[in-house]
Amino acid sequence: MFPFDNSYARLPERFYARLPPTPVKAPKLVKLNGALARELGLDPDALMSDEGVAFLAGNAAAPGSEPIAMAYAGHQFGHFVPQLGDGRAILLGEVVDTKGMRRDIQLKGAGQTPFSRGADGRAALGPVLREYIVSEAMAALGIPTTRALAALITGEGVWRETALPGAILARVAQSHIRIGTFQFFAARGDVEALRLLVEHVLARHYPEAQGALGLLEGVIARQAALVARWMGVGFIHGVMNTDNMTVSGETIDYGPCAFMDRYHPETVFSSIDAHGRYAFANQPAIARWNLARLAETLLPLLSENEEEAVDRANAALTQFPPLFETAWRRVLGAKLGIAAMTGDDMALAGELFDAMAAHEADFTLTFRRLTDGEELGFGDWQERWRARADDPGAMARANPRVIPRNHRVEEAIRAAVDREDFAAFETLVQVLGRPFDAQPEFAAYADPPKPDEVVTRTFCGT
Ligand code: AMP
Ligand code: MG
Repeated sequence: MFPFDNSYARLPERFYARLPPTPVKAPKLVKLNGALARELGLDPDALMSDEGVAFLAGNAAAPGSEPIAMAYAGHQFGHFVPQLGDGRAILLGEVVDTKGMRRDIQLKGAGQTPFSRGADGRAALGPVLREYIVSEAMAALGIPTTRALAALITGEGVWRETALPGAILARVAQSHIRIGTFQFFAARGDVEALRLLVEHVLARHYPEAQGALGLLEGVIARQAALVARWMGVGFIHGVMNTDNMTVSGETIDYGPCAFMDRYHPETVFSSIDAHGRYAFANQPAIARWNLARLAETLLPLLSENEEEAVDRANAALTQFPPLFETAWRRVLGAKLGIAAMTGDDMALAGELFDAMAAHEADFTLTFRRLTDGEELGFGDWQERWRARADDPGAMARANPRVIPRNHRVEEAIRAAVDREDFAAFETLVQVLGRPFDAQPEFAAYADPPKPDEVVTRTFCGT
């Protein structure tokens, strides 16, 4: 059913723990992503069969799978934890998709592993649906991300201060290798493992690059572009720990993430981010900080001479701000319909953001109104913008009509968790799959929350 070819499981044993998922009581498929299945070269009907569901639940071993829990470390809110690892996720293996891209298939919520640190190894339905909705919305927006292949309920309860329905997410990624994977080996002084990991990542994600420096430069460029893309749709990741940052440049780990309704640069949603470390406008600085942690792990491979290694790492990291700036300029240029953004245009964009913050304007709607030629009422700003805008075609493809608004995500989760009613989830996934298209029958999905619908806090999936 899965044509597995598991390159990560061929790395030395200290990269992971081998173990199968822990079976669940009564697995039931909530949603299969048929389009993604086909993209992976898999048969959606087979995946929906009893046998397919047993594989996706971890109740039966898919032939060719070599289940592992990957080892990794990470800085969580600035504090280094030398061993995290997949505490509730099992990588079944890798398939090469119809475009020739190698993709991981991982079950999140698949039971305890040697990395569980006392936790239950499971996931609750709410966070699984949240990740399904938001990661697929990101993909539809054209932003690099892990994907959701399937969501299942387990027929078991999980305890999260209260009893909740348990669930599993079958997640797909170009790989699940994180900055924290490098940190795991660096913390152990295992330069040989780092060397192997660099080779593995280069072959998989940066075939055109060479050596540890090429890898570092590649990850810096992709993360700079990624964060600019997030900010172009008002996305706040919420938990940009180094273990939640891939080296492939895909968005990963949709815990307390959220899209802003009203724009403010200091917006924070995560209930655990008391100091605003991962606030909207902080994201480029945090990405750079995380990339510096990656650079540190690579020092022994950048040069035999320590001083030279540090110089090379710093030279690469110095590229982050201009790379981000260029990417952000491109994002804003498309959003504003200005083909080549000058410094003056960037200042004009800055004025728009200031006005949006002052007026508590809705992020998504502001750009849509601009796209649709409606008046914003921000003084003479729009007149000055009109004099500059020369590429209106770009705007329709850069300014989504619908994003996963928190109140809609909550509504879908509540109906599923409280009433086993998945209709709102289904509709939301469907609407968010076409973010740039007019969908008159779903016009209400573009609306911001009413005052009593506003969600101000999001919670981690743990
Ligand atoms: P996250 O906050 O999802 O990025 O997870 C941080 C770390 O906690 C990772 O090592 C996870 O595998 C682990 N973890 C989170 N939730 C659980 C759980 N329910 N059981 C075991 N480990 C978990
Ligand atoms: Mg994580």
